[in-house]
Amino acid sequence: MTELLPPDSAGIARAVALLLEGELVALPTETVYGLGADATNAEAVARIYAVKERPRFNPLICHYPDAEAAFAHVEASALALQLAKAFWPGPLTLVLPRKPDCPLPLLVSAGLETLAVRVPQTALTLALLRALSRPLAAPSANRSGAVSPTEPAHVLAELGGRIAAVLNGPACPIGVESTVIDLTEMPPRLLRPGGLPRKAIEAFTGPLAGPLPHEARAPQALRSPGQLASHYAPRAKLRLEAREVAANEALLAFGPPLAGAAVTFSLSSRGDLVEAAARLFSGLRWLDQEVARLDLAGIAAMPIPEEGLGEAINDRLRRAAAPRPLGRRMEVALHA
Ligand code: AMP
Ligand code: MG
Repeated sequence: MTELLPPDSAGIARAVALLLEGELVALPTETVYGLGADATNAEAVARIYAVKERPRFNPLICHYPDAEAAFAHVEASALALQLAKAFWPGPLTLVLPRKPDCPLPLLVSAGLETLAVRVPQTALTLALLRALSRPLAAPSANRSGAVSPTEPAHVLAELGGRIAAVLNGPACPIGVESTVIDLTEMPPRLLRPGGLPRKAIEAFTGPLAGPLPHEARAPQALRSPGQLASHYAPRAKLRLEAREVAANEALLAFGPPLAGAAVTFSLSSRGDLVEAAARLFSGLRWLDQEVARLDLAGIAAMPIPEEGLGEAINDRLRRAAAPRPLGRRMEVALHA
């Protein structure tokens, strides 16, 4: 049963308790209803992908109660500070480099070195964020491919029975997603047009790079998750569907690990796909370092069932194993 929580302090307290237990709670923002999880909890974040039935890991936006809290986790340029001052709380999402000590799991940003941050406007959700005192990872509260919900009833129709609770807040006054801009390059790039008009941002930034909506397809496709130059892919050779492992290989295990590897990282010894998704990016990074340190032949990945989150995990592993024309650029971006 999905609880419908009242839009008051009791509802907020219940939502906070559920979120701290790793449950998912849908909540209002001025743009659309978000499917919120404690962004510091990798398994809760993995559950977002499971509930949305996303076939791959997309980076999620992290929501903060104020700019100070957001900029504790990302490197803010002078321009970022200006934009935050002008437009937060509001429908503007800023993509910035993660700080080296950023405590959020890599799964939140689908393995990227950057993080998308925003301060929403809805008073109820700001009060919740202050009470939670952790960021909320929150994509739109609908199944993958469906329309974004702007009222609690929409969320219940889409996700009722699949999430712990919906905060019964107001309808979303803006009704379209936030505008996303990438501040890691100059000029900044418009990644997604949304609730804040491009012109308002350009008053601060000058002309933004990146396409207008109707010509967005090709350039945006290039920057989509998994194809970004800065997107994490291991340097080590990755061998999929491994049913045995050599003594000079590192093992990415799922279920009871194969014996005989030089080193092993267990995604989930009990074969739990949510746990495996939560540990995927940190596991790949660690094994990659171990392969370099011990001069191993590569990483062998045990088979993962193509069901539930297994689809997204396998998508990422397949792309990490495929020959990459951008490989050199990725290495520069990652290891420079
Ligand atoms: P949604 O999950 O529906 O709110 O959509 C989030 C949007 O933000 C998507 O278009 C993502 O691709 C984009 N996004 C989130 N984080 C990043 C990031 N670190 N780099 C680039 N785009 C991002
Ligand atoms: Mg969405």
